Amino acid sequence: MTTLYLVVPCYNEEAVLPETTARLTQKLGEMEDAGLIGPESRILYVDDGSRDRTWELISRFFEESPYVTGLKLAHNRGHQNALLAGLMAAKDCCDCAVSLDADLQDDVDALDQFVAKFHGGCDIVYGVRSSRETDTAFKRGSAQAFYRLMGLLGVEMVYNHADYRLMSRRALEALAEYREENLFLRGLVPQLGFRSGCVYYERHERFAGESKYPLKKMISFALDGVTSFSVKPLRMIAALGVLVSLLSVAGLLYALISHALGRTVAGWTAIVSSIWLLGGLQMLCLGVVGGYVGKIYSEVKARPRYHVEEHLKK
Ligand code: UDP
Ligand code: MG
Repeated sequence: MTTLYLVVPCYNEEAVLPETTARLTQKLGEMEDAGLIGPESRILYVDDGSRDRTWELISRFFEESPYVTGLKLAHNRGHQNALLAGLMAAKDCCDCAVSLDADLQDDVDALDQFVAKFHGGCDIVYGVRSSRETDTAFKRGSAQAFYRLMGLLGVEMVYNHADYRLMSRRALEALAEYREENLFLRGLVPQLGFRSGCVYYERHERFAGESKYPLKKMISFALDGVTSFSVKPLRMIAALGVLVSLLSVAGLLYALISHALGRTVAGWTAIVSSIWLLGGLQMLCLGVVGGYVGKIYSEVKARPRYHVEEHLKK
């Protein structure tokens, strides 16, 4: 029987937890009755250093419901870290784990399809939003621009997928080998490889409480995504340096010709050509240094170089 863990990060979620627990418990019960999952399946709440009654509620539900378990982080480490903490705790007791938000924005009824895909042989199942109608125009526009930018920078991501996803135990074990500080799970998970599938769902509005992702956090999350996966910005500086250096040669020629034709003020030629040349050379040097910094950066991350998907042994 498949043991499913629902990993739910919570930060100041006292307003939503009772309803979330009721819905998730009911859902797990139904899935168990349908024979989709085994009786060891659990909800794992991760309290990300909340300052309200979140942990109190989690402890109470733990007493009351056979399904609820909890993990409390010592302080607020952010959504991605809380999620990872939950997944790593679930890894040793489950066959597969699904991560979802505490506010039930992710459609709980899609869980059957996740598990069906897992039974069909997928190690990773991405929950993909079928539309973004419940978003504000700004959130929709900025999200689209972000996916496009990431695509241009060569980062593999699943379009319109946030963090509603199923991962098998094997995929979780692979994820555990990534030791980096700056976590950007939706970029990291596609790098694991393994067989994957998608489940489409409608994302609802948050039914209570406020978003814990204000604009400032969203921007820093997006920047983290870019700088954790791409050294292309560094390469762009180097390319710009080459371009400016070449242009400076043309600028030099222009200045010399103007000088020869006597159309310049005394001293102009020397100043203008040195500005061009030095500017170009500096940028080029910066690019070269950037190239090495980029290498150090990827070495320091020490990401695993491969994951074994199958091993045929006698
Ligand atoms: N969250 C968290 N730590 C934080 C911020 C958010 O664990 O520092 C959790 C939050 O409780 C929720 C999920 O991450 O379960 C997604 O946050 P939210 O729903 O506020 O984001 P939005 O859906 O508005 O992007
Ligand atoms: Mg939300």
